[in-house]
Amino acid sequence: MKQAVIAGAGLAGRLLAWRLLRGGWQVDLFDAAARDDTRSAAMVAAAMLSPLAELAVADEVVFEQAQRAMALWPQWLQQLRDDSGREVYYRRDGTLVVAHAPDRATLEHFTRVLHHKLPAAHRSALQAIDGERLAQLEPALAGRFDGGLYLDGEGQLANDELMAALAAAIDKLGGRWHELCAVHALEAKGIDRAQGRCDADLVIDARGVGAKRDWPGLRGVRGELITVECHGVQLQRPVRLMHPRYQLYIAPRPQQRFVVGATELESEDDGPMTLRSMLELGSALYSLHPAFGEARVLRLAVGLRPTTDDHRPALRRHEDLWQINGLYRHGFLCAPALVDQLLHEVS
Ligand SMILES: Cc1cc2nc3c(=O)[nH]c(=O)nc-3n(C[C@H](O)[C@H](O)[C@H](O)COP(=O)(O)OP(=O)(O)OC[C@H]3O[C@@H](n4cnc5c(N)ncnc54)[C@H](O)[C@@H]3O)c2cc1C
Repeated sequence: MKQAVIAGAGLAGRLLAWRLLRGGWQVDLFDAAARDDTRSAAMVAAAMLSPLAELAVADEVVFEQAQRAMALWPQWLQQLRDDSGREVYYRRDGTLVVAHAPDRATLEHFTRVLHHKLPAAHRSALQAIDGERLAQLEPALAGRFDGGLYLDGEGQLANDELMAALAAAIDKLGGRWHELCAVHALEAKGIDRAQGRCDADLVIDARGVGAKRDWPGLRGVRGELITVECHGVQLQRPVRLMHPRYQLYIAPRPQQRFVVGATELESEDDGPMTLRSMLELGSALYSLHPAFGEARVLRLAVGLRPTTDDHRPALRRHEDLWQINGLYRHGFLCAPALVDQLLHEVS
């Protein structure tokens, strides 16, 4: 049996471990943190699957990866349910983009940028909607906005449920998980860690921002999110609220929870959320619907997105040592495409 070693049990590391185990590999998965740690980017993320909206800040490479990943997710989540015995919340009901009247120009500009960057074959997914259609899609927002933009086919999943299901599947398929085990040196035939060397046929570096020393130019980009519970508002799908200074989204989750995010700051400070960010995220939520004023704040989360200069998720190879990184704000959107590519190349 071929032996794979993976450094990093975040999003990329867990997906890789699970797919390799399914392919008959023996897998050792090392992470610097404890198994139940929640500080990786994957454990903080909103996990929106937004190939259209993200095109405003991404290019055609990211869009193409996203298309491949969006095709893989339904099949992979079905297989993950079989392997782990767990359900993962996953929806593809589109995204609604709205703006308050003074910010309408921002929404118009956003629409024009997407129209310009989207390949012609995908443009029908961009749908300008009036107040009536908006009220059908999201009754809770009826009368609050006189129209918006509907992004057909976009979706979201629950990151915590996905990460838990991947951990369960890795266990069930016989993967060996080494928690609190930082990896500092990776080579084509093995890794070095404090507890000694571990040899393998395939070595994968999936340490996110932790791989900075071995990936020149890689940086962390700070992002902050609030999770609230609110019983006064029902939303069927993620809503993006345009604003001249930032774009915010509200993504519904099971049990009347909502993830509100995210800030984007050129900083590798992973310390607690600032008051300013809390006020900005909170006021955006309250301005979407005043019933959110009674929401209970469940979590204030901060994470660092592993980011390259060109903002493209990337896969690199040096003999049998592979590196997957730079997933930036597109990890959930794109990771299956890169993981699938790596598996094809090593099998
Ligand atoms: C606020 C926020 C919102 C986001 N929203 C979205 C979204 O809506 N949609 C989307 O697609 N993406 C989103 N993302 C991006 C997504 O979370 C990341 O792209 C993705 O998690 C990166 O995956 P990764 O496995 O490379 O890194 P991570 O998930 O950060 O995992 C890296 C792992 O490596 C481990 N590690 C680090 N150093 C070492 C070491 N020396 N040895 C061993 N292990 C080590 C860490 O403990 C961690 O477990 C968001 C991110 C943030 C922060």
